[in-house]
Amino acid sequence: MSQNLWQHYKRSFKVNADRKEGCASGMEKEPTTSRTQEAGTKGVISVLPLGRVDTDVLHVVADGLQAILRVPVDLRAAIPIPQETFMEARQQYNAMAIIKRLDTKLVGNSLKVLGITSKDICNPILTYVFGEAYMDGRAAVMSCFRLFMSTIGKPIPRELFLDRVVKVALHEIGHTFNLPHCHTDRCVMRASNNLAELDEKLNYLCSYCEVFLMESLGRTLKAARQGKDL
Ligand SMILES: [Zn+2]
Ligand SMILES: [Zn+2]
Repeated sequence: MSQNLWQHYKRSFKVNADRKEGCASGMEKEPTTSRTQEAGTKGVISVLPLGRVDTDVLHVVADGLQAILRVPVDLRAAIPIPQETFMEARQQYNAMAIIKRLDTKLVGNSLKVLGITSKDICNPILTYVFGEAYMDGRAAVMSCFRLFMSTIGKPIPRELFLDRVVKVALHEIGHTFNLPHCHTDRCVMRASNNLAELDEKLNYLCSYCEVFLMESLGRTLKAARQGKDL
């Protein structure tokens, strides 16, 4: 990622990070790009590329989640998207099947895993989804496929694309910490059924969602510490 682009994101993440002081296990340092790990990741959240995904996308997600949630986030080496989740009739991948696969086989040592794909994903009810997650579960998946698209008929700036990527990542990881959809204007946990609605949101949690998520995160970390060495 270019230095300028990272400065842009560092500024937007910092707003949230500053508001969360003392809320979760501390990360005093500037967010740094997570190291890619083959396996045995120890981060609270791991980001797992499913097939080829742009490097700046992976770094903005890993660093963004780490800065906003203030927990270690690992970026893992890519694996192929599970081919058995491909729906021939729709020429899309089944998001529900992907998260089931992530949950049962691919969480690794992290507490949550976020799979990222450049392929189009859907579920049995919706023609497409930006992401899907288990509520209070361990697995989430997101797709960049539609986030490149424009709502005004011309190419979008890279910053807007990456902004969308971070919003979807934060939204789906929020669900894994049991956050439901929120009705607060511009909160990242609002449901968004299309790009216009996604663009209306900000990559931040409203104060209600922030408290809910931090409590859930605290409980998850405490349970993990009691159950296994974190
Ligand atoms: Zn949602
Ligand atoms: Zn909210």
